[in-house]
Amino acid sequence: MPEQHATAHGTTTPATAPTGDPTSSAPTASTAIVNIGTLVTNDPSLGSGPLGLIHDAAVVIDGGRIAWIGTHSETPPTDSHHDAGGRAVIPGFVDSHSHLLFAGDRTDEFNARMSGRPYTAGGIRTTVAATRRATDAQLAANLTALLTEMRRQGTTTVEVKSGYGLTAEHESRALRVAREHAEETTYLGAHVVPAEYAAAPDAYVARVTGPMLDACAPHARWIDVFCEEGAFDADQARAVLTAGRARGLLPRVHANQLTAGPGVRLAVELGAASADHCTHLTDADVDALAQGSTVATLLPGCEFSTRAPYPDARRLLDAGAVVALATDCNPGSSFTSSMPFCVAVAVREMGMTPDEALWSATAGGAAALRRADIGHLTPGARADLALLDAPSPSHLAYRPGVPLVAAVWQGGHRVA
Ligand SMILES: [Zn+2]
Repeated sequence: MPEQHATAHGTTTPATAPTGDPTSSAPTASTAIVNIGTLVTNDPSLGSGPLGLIHDAAVVIDGGRIAWIGTHSETPPTDSHHDAGGRAVIPGFVDSHSHLLFAGDRTDEFNARMSGRPYTAGGIRTTVAATRRATDAQLAANLTALLTEMRRQGTTTVEVKSGYGLTAEHESRALRVAREHAEETTYLGAHVVPAEYAAAPDAYVARVTGPMLDACAPHARWIDVFCEEGAFDADQARAVLTAGRARGLLPRVHANQLTAGPGVRLAVELGAASADHCTHLTDADVDALAQGSTVATLLPGCEFSTRAPYPDARRLLDAGAVVALATDCNPGSSFTSSMPFCVAVAVREMGMTPDEALWSATAGGAAALRRADIGHLTPGARADLALLDAPSPSHLAYRPGVPLVAAVWQGGHRVA
């Protein structure tokens, strides 16, 4: 058998797990998942095609990590095993863009939009008012309910943004709550200019880059800004991201969602990990993404829920850009928690093949979070994987809307 199948390296450095992270205590007994019809490794050196597919496969999990992968008949002895029944196993989805720290509901806004009213950035303020009124316990309960919903659909890593507090007190408490439940937290004080600063947006930027940043930096890994007409312009966005970077936060950008604005080129110029949305792109934007290290993260739930034109994933892929898919789960413009839904829409509407969409929802998300330990199933990777009620991972797009995730392991624990 190829050496890489038989070797348990453990060479990938795990990201620091926050307090309370469900994966922080690894199980000690080894488990084999055997009789896997199709295993997606996302490592072309381990199997066929860009997804590195292995048929009639098995995976050994030990100490919360992938210890071994290979063919079923060569599975080494383990303490226990789980029979996959010939079904497909994929890496857990990496949802690299979500807004789960909120209170309230915007059903009425959705109904109005579906009756013809356009989406604008201003709707965020509705959620800000409800979130400020909520207690820490209410925010945590809503967050954990959504994280559980995501896990049941195969998602094992979630990035969570603040952005519905918009004061030092409310933004920092949102990130404090998020950090107790999610590994990847993002300070998004520059989500929208709050109503009380509507006449003085630069004064608000000074808050975001000053006292609010001081309060939030200890609880976040990333800094984000909504660079868009009606939100923050290029100069304001640059000020926010460079201030965050000076405090050790890594930049990512809400870019080119509603217009072909300056967000993508700013993201690439500043070396942001990801430019998110990328719905309206010029040729120069596409070239910049193809040549830089910034991942283009596409959020089809948003276009679906705002009845807007979809981003052109085919154009980005053909140019050579790295593409990720994420849910953008939020109560206003994309209230889906389902990565399988995003995969299906990306294939149907955005020119992606089923293989490309699955890669973007797993390895692409990991790239957008600059994580080497997730998004693939190779020895040493974190044991985050999903068993599908399907013989092929293509069923995620082929059978849209069907709950195909049969079981989920996160850090080696069976969590769904
Ligand atoms: Zn967003």
